[in-house]
Formats: sequence, structure tokens, C-alpha cells
Amino acid sequence: MAKRDYYEVLGVSRDASPDEVKTAYRKLARQYHPDVAKENPKAAEEKFKELSEAYEVLADPEKRRRYDAGGYSEVAPDFGPGGFSWQNFSHGDDLEDLLGQSPLFQQLFGSFGGPFATGRRGVARGHDVEVTVRLPLSAAIEGAHPTVEVPRSSPCPDCRGTGAKGGTAFETCPECKGQGQVRRVQNRGFAQFITIAACPKCGGTGRRILERCPTCRGSGRRQTTERIELTVPPGVEDGAVFRVAGHGGDGGSQGAAGDLYVQVVLEPVPGFHREGTELYGEAAIPLATALLGGEVTVRTLEGTAELKIPAGTQPETQFRLRGRGFPRPRGTSRGDLLLTVHVEVPKSLNGRERELLREALGDPGKANSTKRDSIWRRRSG
Ligand SMILES: [Zn+2]
Ligand SMILES: [Zn+2]
Repeated sequence: MAKRDYYEVLGVSRDASPDEVKTAYRKLARQYHPDVAKENPKAAEEKFKELSEAYEVLADPEKRRRYDAGGYSEVAPDFGPGGFSWQNFSHGDDLEDLLGQSPLFQQLFGSFGGPFATGRRGVARGHDVEVTVRLPLSAAIEGAHPTVEVPRSSPCPDCRGTGAKGGTAFETCPECKGQGQVRRVQNRGFAQFITIAACPKCGGTGRRILERCPTCRGSGRRQTTERIELTVPPGVEDGAVFRVAGHGGDGGSQGAAGDLYVQVVLEPVPGFHREGTELYGEAAIPLATALLGGEVTVRTLEGTAELKIPAGTQPETQFRLRGRGFPRPRGTSRGDLLLTVHVEVPKSLNGRERELLREALGDPGKANSTKRDSIWRRRSG
């Protein structure tokens, strides 16, 4: 795919002011919000990434100057060998208000170190909640949609969140007259200082409880569990952390909810291990197959595959099964499965078998292994 001009991507002229660049970016980012582009969130993600790359360069005067002078090749080294990634994006703050509310969006883009990893500012924000999801290693091939249960609090139904018995046993706070905040005016010389603070009598609620709700003991909140279905993308690494904004601890009446951080732990599968996009495995083959060649059914992470064994295959030979490993970045292809074959030597032979082998391979007698040994030494040294 040819690299599009950054100005064209953002739909701004080459002499656009920093404000115009920012406005254009925010407008387009909103348009390609996967919550809006529900029918094709993958395409929306790609589009959004392209926009963000353009913005990363054009929002920075120094990068923009280099881009104007020499085009993409001037800024490409900033991004690393794979081109632009979310780790390169440093303007997450410009989108926070726009995208902070969307759990789906955060799932798609909110991994640790991503653009939105910065905490939301504000008062009485709920705490962040961390959960671990254990998935089979095969989940890294196709992705997964695990469901997690997160403790949440919601308004108490018996008092409708007021904390007062029956939802009525309260009066307007006499201190703040129901405003929930108090103004203090101080005169210093010619200047007047006005400070506004939460009412100390009612804690900012504007009400005074006369009789507490027995269900929630006056807190107005009820503890519940929320079930959240997550989207774990193909190619996920063991230990990856995803952020789901707004699904952490409840922030109370005014504060925003905290965020949910989900760590993915991939369960190892005996006989297999992963290195990047490659999968390593083992298979045992009969001696006859190793000597004469043949086809064997081998285990892969997803099921089985047929493997052709050429005649004269040596023990511990590694075979490559293309496309049986893990998805490569950008999801276009998959890595390979590298299978090491072990040759099964029969523990005992019957008389006839022994006879036939002697006839075919000769009498072993006394073998001299010093020669082979020296060859082996030369190879490993
Ligand atoms: Zn008050
Ligand atoms: Zn209650």
C-alpha cells in the first residue's frame, strides 16, 4: 500500500495552522471511532491509525518541518523498523475526552504504553481494577472473547442511591442549602479571593440524612458484579495488558469510574513453546518411517497436520510447517511451526526381525565410534 501524504490524510492544506491540524484530526478520529464504525471496526482501526500517524508528525513543529523538507523518509526513523505503532503516539491527551468513555475503543487501542495509558484527571475518581485472564496458548492464534467478572457498585435500589431510608428520610443540607458546595470570600487589600469547596457538612451531596437506609447503611451504593466480554486480538503476547476505560471501581456520585486493566496469561501447552510468531513442537516417528520415508500425522496447536518424512531422515531433524505458527503483526500471515522429530527405536526385536536386519544392514560386530565422535566434535566446536 502506497504511503499517503499526511496532509491529504488529515484533509488539511500544507499551510494549515496547528489548531487547524488538531481540529481536523479530532473530527476524523470521531468519525472512525469503532463504536460508530461498528460494521467494520478493523477497517476503522486501520484508518484511525493512519490518521494518528499523520497527526503525530504534523502536530510536532520539528517533525513537520522535516516532513515538509524531505517527506516520509525524513520521519520514518522516528517510528522504528515496523513503521508507525501506537508506542510512537504521544498525543493521546488530545483524544481523552473524546474516547475516554468508550470501552470498545479502549479495548482496541488501550493496551499499556498505548496512547491512552495516562490516567484520567478529576475528583474522586474510582480506583483501577486489575484482573488476570488465563487463556490457552491457542488463543494467540485466533484471538479470544473471554468474559470477566468485575466487582462494581451501583445505586442502592431501596433508597434510590440517596442513602436515606425509603429514599425520603433526608432534608436539604442547612449548611449549603442543597448546593453541595460552599463559597468562601476573602478580602485581601483590593483583591477578593473566592474559593469554592465541597460542603463539609454533607460531603457535597446537598442533603442531610435523617434516617439511614438499612440496606446500604447509608452509603447509597450496592455491590454487584459486572460481566464484561473482552476482545483479545490474534497474536496476543503472554502477559499483555489491556485497558478498559470506565469499568474499574465506581467513582461515587460525581467522580468518574476507574479503569479496568486486564492481563492476559497464556497457559503453556506441554510439548510446544513459542518464540515470537514461531511455534516449536516435537513429534515421534517410527524407525521404519525414518529409514524408508512416509507420512505421519503430527500434533499442531490447533489440531493435527500431515507431515511428509523423506527416506533416511536423521533423528532430531527439524521440519518447517509453514503458516502453523502465530499471526504476524498486521494479521496478513502467520509464522511457522518448527517440528523436531524423534526417531523411535524399538526396545526389542523378535528372532525374525533380528535376522532380517542383520541381513540388510550387516553384522554390527564391534563398532568403532571414534571416527564419528571426531566428526561430531568438529561440528559442535
Ligand atoms: Zn451541605
Ligand atoms: Zn440504600
